[in-house]
Amino acid sequence: MTHDFLQPLTGSFACPAGENPTVAMIEAAYRHHDLPWRYINCEVTPENLGDAVRGARAMGWRGFNCSIPHKVAVIEHLDGLGTSAEIIGAVNTVVARDGKLIGENTDGKGFVRALGKICDPSGHNVVLLGAGGAARAVAVELALAGVAHITVVNRSAERGEAVAALINDKTPARAEYQPWEGTYSIPEGTGIVVNATSVGLYPDVESTPDIDHNSLTRDMVVADGIHNPPRTKLLQAAQARGCKTADGLGMLVGQGVIGLKYWTGIDADAEVMRQALIDLDL
Ligand code: NDP
Repeated sequence: MTHDFLQPLTGSFACPAGENPTVAMIEAAYRHHDLPWRYINCEVTPENLGDAVRGARAMGWRGFNCSIPHKVAVIEHLDGLGTSAEIIGAVNTVVARDGKLIGENTDGKGFVRALGKICDPSGHNVVLLGAGGAARAVAVELALAGVAHITVVNRSAERGEAVAALINDKTPARAEYQPWEGTYSIPEGTGIVVNATSVGLYPDVESTPDIDHNSLTRDMVVADGIHNPPRTKLLQAAQARGCKTADGLGMLVGQGVIGLKYWTGIDADAEVMRQALIDLDL
């Protein structure tokens, strides 16, 4: 009987790496689909990033995720970028294609995939809370998915204006920046509200972004990027107002499904991956 003990390798480079649950989700999918692949969670400091990427190349890794603080720094070590990673200016998924390491960004694609289960974003007006890395990725993918207008609400004007300018310059959608001063009231005519700030993330689970909950109406979809806890205070308030909601676990699973497709070519079972995360009891 012949054996093949060589397992295709994927993984993640981040610092800190210990709290990232992606490994549980991806390895559950590998097992479910009988793929002999592995996903190895690696703690890589900024000064070691170049060596880590060269190591992945040398060992023939099929790809890897990059998380904080490597999403921009990794670009100089790669051979090329996919379309949205190029626009966003950050990479969270690297894919080995024909001997080249290509940077992709699935943060926003995962979000749009999860949102797509609830509504078709095209033509909608969006309120985007936050203007950090996640917000930037979500804004670009929503724009490429055909939303009409994005209002970027953020405390820091510099970051908020930069995201709005990026959308206006690089995508067919229109965008404007609104300063976040006091409680923000969601304007009438908004179809989708997205929390892409870090407000509500464990352990700060009692916090909600400072918006007027009475301005949420039942025709709005409210999406939260926070995956821990999945049922944030914001989503609870939105559900109480009759809004449809999309949680951050869906965004995380969506990214995983897209990453697996890039690496292995298979359409992974999203429910198996979501259950693997739920089983962690985050
Ligand atoms: P960044 O640090 O790049 O950005 C943080 C954003 O949150 C900024 O816009 C910041 O505003 C804003 N913010 C922070 N505190 C407050 C506050 N008290 N009030 C209002 N705004 C605030 O982080 P990322 O963009 O990388 O990540 C943001 C969140 O998205 C994280 O919590 C992360 O868990 C989540 N995420 C989820 C993913 C998923 O798959 N579910 C994937 C990626 C991220 P300012 O610019 O004014 O400082």
